[in-house]
Amino acid sequence: MKKRGLLIVISGPSGAGKGTICKALLQKNKDLKLSVSCTTRAPREGEKEGVNYYFVSKEKFEDMIRKNEFLEYATVYGNYYGTPKSYVEEELNKGNDVILEIDIQGALMVKEKYPDGVFIFILPPSMEELKNRIIKRGSETEDSLKTRFNSAFEEIKYMSNYDYAVVNDYVEEAVKKIECIIIAEKCRCSRVMDTVCFNQEG
Ligand code: 5GP
Repeated sequence: MKKRGLLIVISGPSGAGKGTICKALLQKNKDLKLSVSCTTRAPREGEKEGVNYYFVSKEKFEDMIRKNEFLEYATVYGNYYGTPKSYVEEELNKGNDVILEIDIQGALMVKEKYPDGVFIFILPPSMEELKNRIIKRGSETEDSLKTRFNSAFEEIKYMSNYDYAVVNDYVEEAVKKIECIIIAEKCRCSRVMDTVCFNQEG
């Protein structure tokens, strides 16, 4: 029987370093697939269509909601963000592991639909460091910076809904921990039992 891939959901406050971690994880593990989300927010400098996001209008996004094309979607900081369903399902069915880098509302929705997913929460080493990282990114206005920083406090309260918490002090260390989580998850008896068949004839 072909093994279905692992669905790995990564969340954490803005500035915790989810994007950097996912990029490094994907570079090291060529078999991992990243689900590219749709968003109605404007592209930041250097962001590419189809690589960072599919940048769509509000009308197009709402049309996709009506057509049930999202595995989950949420409004984050006033914009829509959503995971296209077909890509994730196709890759999982091919046996590939898929990463979703999404917010907490979305992760909770995914958990209902895919209870056997692996839910990982990324934490900054401290709130001060989180603030520094958002400022350093230079892409936020004063208001948006405040919103993202205040939301971080609220978001961290949801950590207990996740299976694992990884502190992102050093990116390489955080990536190593996620790789270990993935290996351990694949060795879970429940997953192995689903895919192998042992009988007395050998
Ligand atoms: P940013 O604007 O910084 O790229 O993303 C803002 C937030 O939206 C981040 O927490 C990010 O993880 C989340 N996000 C990105 N794509 C999706 C998605 O498809 N669904 C949900 N629910 N959140 C997303």
